[in-house]
This record gives sequence, C-alpha cells and structure tokens, in this order.
Amino acid sequence: MASKITCAEAVDYISRREEGKLTRGQRFRLWRHLAACSLCRIFSAQNKLLARFAAERPVADALTETDKDIIIQRVLGESQEGKTDSGSAP
Ligand SMILES: [Zn+2]
Repeated sequence: MASKITCAEAVDYISRREEGKLTRGQRFRLWRHLAACSLCRIFSAQNKLLARFAAERPVADALTETDKDIIIQRVLGESQEGKTDSGSAP
C-alpha cells in the first residue's frame, strides 16, 4: 500500500503535473488524494484553468514594472477609498 500524501504535497504534485513532471506513482497518489479531498479538487481545477489561461495569453512578460505598479496602486487604492484621486473631479 503506497503511503498517503498530505494536502501540501498534493498542491505540489498538482503544480508539477501541469509541467508533466510527475512519476506514475506520484500521479496515482495524487489521484487518490483528490478522490478523498474536495479542497484539493477545487485547487486542481483552478490550477488547470490558470495554466490554460497562461498558455493562451503569455501576457505576464509584457507587463512593464510601471504597469505592475499601476495595477498594485489600483488594488491598494480600492481598499482605502478616496485617499487617491477620486476620478470625479470637475
Ligand atoms: Zn487535500
């Protein structure tokens, strides 16, 4: 009987599975973990979507440091309402 894997290991396996780096034994243990663990099933499904999305749109490298700063500022700005430019000035 092969040993069971933890959720942390399952997450690691799921990430590596997308890169095709799992052995047959690892795939089996992951499959058995997913059969018993709904949280990791959700993670697995999301990971597949993300991997497909990233493969279709290799945009991450196209973002400049300035773009990233703008995005970060926007995200931070939304959490502290009105501190930055409100956009409704005349
Ligand atoms: Zn799990």
